[in-house]
Amino acid sequence: MFYKKENGWKGVVEAEKKNIFEFSEGYKKFLDIGKTEREFVSRGVELAEFFGFKNAANFKELKTGDKVYYNNRGKNLVLAIIGKKNITEGINYVVSHIDSPRLDLKQNPLYEEMELSYMRTHYYGGIKKYHWATLPLAMHGIVVLENGKKVEIVIGEKESDPVFNIPDLLPHLWGKTQAERKAPEVLMGEELQIIVGTIPATIENKEIKDLVKYTVMKKLNEDYGIVEEDFISAELQLVPAGKSRDVGLDRSIVGAYGQDDRICGYTSLKAILDLKDIPEKTAVCFLADKEETGSNGSTGLQSDYIEYFTSDMISKNNEKYSDLDLRQCLWNSKAMSSDVNVAADPIFKSVHEMQNAAELNYGIVVTKYTGSRGKSGTNDADAEYVAEIRTLLNRENIRWQTGMLGKVDEGGGGTVAMFLAQKGIRTIDVGPALLSMHAPFELASKFDIYETYKAYKAFYNL
Ligand code: MN
Ligand code: MN
Repeated sequence: MFYKKENGWKGVVEAEKKNIFEFSEGYKKFLDIGKTEREFVSRGVELAEFFGFKNAANFKELKTGDKVYYNNRGKNLVLAIIGKKNITEGINYVVSHIDSPRLDLKQNPLYEEMELSYMRTHYYGGIKKYHWATLPLAMHGIVVLENGKKVEIVIGEKESDPVFNIPDLLPHLWGKTQAERKAPEVLMGEELQIIVGTIPATIENKEIKDLVKYTVMKKLNEDYGIVEEDFISAELQLVPAGKSRDVGLDRSIVGAYGQDDRICGYTSLKAILDLKDIPEKTAVCFLADKEETGSNGSTGLQSDYIEYFTSDMISKNNEKYSDLDLRQCLWNSKAMSSDVNVAADPIFKSVHEMQNAAELNYGIVVTKYTGSRGKSGTNDADAEYVAEIRTLLNRENIRWQTGMLGKVDEGGGGTVAMFLAQKGIRTIDVGPALLSMHAPFELASKFDIYETYKAYKAFYNL
């Protein structure tokens, strides 16, 4: 295609290939230490501070060149560099999300039957439930005790740790129970339960009936000081255990959990950290939570947090702050709604109309609209803005392509773009294309990851 086929690996010289591969090493490491939104924010703050960003709460005044961060309840992080121009002239926001599909423990998860102890889960985001059976799973999250103390838990990532697992039915006996079910129900929501123990406690107390459950709770109490009621005030997630890997003999692909959308989270974070010169306009890297469940909640994009920190920046930059300044700023702003798109797969080509489908290794995907059923639930970027982004990417020699989330009426989906656009921000969807999106092990091209990083860097400088 006119803008696509001459791109890709064919145009890459050896020195550039080295940069591309090296960049992915940092990416893989960060994925491994940031498997939940909370972990991503914690690691992100550490990295930001290392690169000279400071907590905005400690600033009374903000001036050109200042580097600050805003930490929204430990799940949503914002990094900003105050630009040369007045903030009300507009901000360049790169907005991605750092939550990923997973299984959350239920608030009362633990039980025992037939001397097997299980924990019940509730899935978060759009998953194919059968993907999650028979995988080694790790437990990540926090438990807040009655006294307010926060206990952090990560079990299943160290070689010496145990893992958790959802057992599945053997093919010998699945005929009547499972084989007839439709794919979304091969494994049903209530069947997503992890096995947590099998050894009964040897205690005299006749009142205690569930002795395996007792053993499990005793172990948790010894290691973390928690009691059963503490699960009520916990956020514990089950994610695939283990590290990101290279995939393929040529090592051109990163295989990992949570690349939707930490691939944009990491590249946009790295891009703002690596900015050498003060940008003309204020640059913001926005790492959101809750996208996978509809952007609700105070750490999601439908909250007013964007207004909150933007007005905080404006008022600290100009003492004569008024509400109009905020509205002008938002209406003058531009955003890259940075999220993944689908890469066409020759095995399942039929869901795409190939003339408009994105493919691996052809760079960042520019998506004018998402949505479903006749463009419902989408921002649909203005042609003028698409032209501006296209010009930027071409000028900076960034490899890009266009893409769609499947054929017309094949299905569809949305991003945070419409929530940004609603605030007046000119918004376009961009991001790399994945294979196996929303699976426990997603695939991304190293080439695309690098081009995505370059695109965000260029956009911050726009
Ligand atoms: Mn996403
Ligand atoms: Mn997603």
